[in-house]
Amino acid sequence: MNSLLSHRLDSVRPSPSMAAKQRVEGLRTAGRRVIDFTIGEPDFPTPEHITQAGVQALLSGQTRYTASAGMPALREAIAAKLSRENGLDYSPAQIVVGSGAKQVIHDALGATLNPGDEVIVPAPYWVSYPDMVALHGGRAVVVPCPPEAGFKLTAEALSRAITPRTRWLMLNTPNNPTGAVYSASELRALCEVLALHPHVWLLTDEIYEHFGYGGARHVSPLSVAPALRERALVVNGFSKAYAMTGWRVGYGAGPIELIKAIVTLLTQSTSCAASVSQVAAIAALGPDQDCVAQAARIFSERRDRMLACLATVPGFQCRPPEGAFYVFPSVQGLLGARTPEGQVLASDLDLVAYLIDAAGVACIDGSSYGMPGFLRLSFATSIEQIEAGGQAIADAVARLSLPRSLPTD
Ligand code: PMP
Ligand code: GLU
Repeated sequence: MNSLLSHRLDSVRPSPSMAAKQRVEGLRTAGRRVIDFTIGEPDFPTPEHITQAGVQALLSGQTRYTASAGMPALREAIAAKLSRENGLDYSPAQIVVGSGAKQVIHDALGATLNPGDEVIVPAPYWVSYPDMVALHGGRAVVVPCPPEAGFKLTAEALSRAITPRTRWLMLNTPNNPTGAVYSASELRALCEVLALHPHVWLLTDEIYEHFGYGGARHVSPLSVAPALRERALVVNGFSKAYAMTGWRVGYGAGPIELIKAIVTLLTQSTSCAASVSQVAAIAALGPDQDCVAQAARIFSERRDRMLACLATVPGFQCRPPEGAFYVFPSVQGLLGARTPEGQVLASDLDLVAYLIDAAGVACIDGSSYGMPGFLRLSFATSIEQIEAGGQAIADAVARLSLPRSLPTD
C-alpha cells in the first residue's frame, strides 16, 4: 500500500517545544507533580486592557473574515510601532499579519524556497527553523555558534556558509534558546558580509526584542544596515511581549513582492488571522506600554534567580543570558554519570529523562536546538517554581555518581 504521508514529512519532526509541553500536560493529567521549565510562554495573563479590546470586538460583532494581509488599522499600528521602536520605515502595504510569527516564517519560506535552496541557520537555533526549511524542500545549512563565540554567528562563519544556492540567513536576536543579543557592531559585521552577496535574503526574528538584561538592548539588524531592507523580512509578534501566545498574532515587514506572496499563501491556508485577536493586537500597540516594561522587570528577576539556583548545581555551566527568557547551560560535565539505578547518562536527552523521573522537573534537551550537551530551561515561570525546580535539580544531581569531581559555576 502506498504510504499516506508525503515525502516532505520525512525530514520534519513535531516541534520539540510543543511536544515537551504536551508531555508535561500528560504527566500532570496522570497525577504527577511536574515543575515545568519547557515552554517559552509568559505565565501571566494577557494585560486587561488588551483582553477588554478583544471582548469588545466580540460583543460589537467584529467576528468576520478580515483582509488576508490583516486589518488595515492593525497594519498601520504595526508600521507606526516599527518606526517608533525600531527606527524602521515601512508602509502598511509592506506588512502582513499572520496567526503568530510562526506562520509568517513558515509562509515566507514557503513563498521563496525551491528544492535544494539553502537557508543558513546559526545553531543553537529555535527548533522550528530547520524543519520549516525542510518542509518547503530547502536545505538548512546549520552553522555551529559555540559558547566561546557567545553563541553568536561571526562574519567569518557566515562568509564560509554562503554558496550560490543560499536563499536566506535566519537571524534571531535576542536568541531562543541561548539568550544571546547581537550588538550593533556585530550586526554591522554580518550585514557587511550580506552586502557582498546580493542573492542572500535576511530573515530577522525579533520576537524577544523587549527582554534584555544587564544593560543588553535589542538592536534591529536593519537599523544598522538600512540598504538591506530590499531583501529582508522583519518578523515579530505579540505572543511574548504581551503574553498573548494563545491569541495567535504575529507579523512580517518586507518588500511588497514578498509580502504579496506570503498573503497569497495566507489566502489559501488560514484566510486571515482571527479578527478578535487582531483588534486585541491593535490595543496592545496603543499608548500604554507599561505592561511590557513590567514583564521585562519580572523576567529580569526570574533570570537572576534561575542563574543563582543553577550556580549551585555541579555540572551545570551557565552563560548568563542577555535576553529572551531561557537559560542554556552546558551539562557536558554530567554526561557519563551513573544514576542510583545504575543507568549511565550518555546524552542530554538521558539527563532530561532523568530530571523528569528523579526531580519532577521538565526541561528540553540542547540536541533539539542543534547543540547536544546542553539543556534549555525557560524561566517564564514563577520565582517559587524556579526555586523549587532548582533545588529539585540540585538534589537529583547530588544522587548521581559523577564521572569525575566537578566545580560549580
Ligand atoms: N520565533 C521564535 C524565536 C520563537 O521562540 C517563537 C516561539 N513562540 C516564535 C518565533 C513564534 O511565536 P508565535 O508564533 O507565538 O508568534
Ligand atoms: N517558541 C516557544 C518555545 O520555544 C513556544 C513553542 C514553539 O512555538 O515552539 O518554547
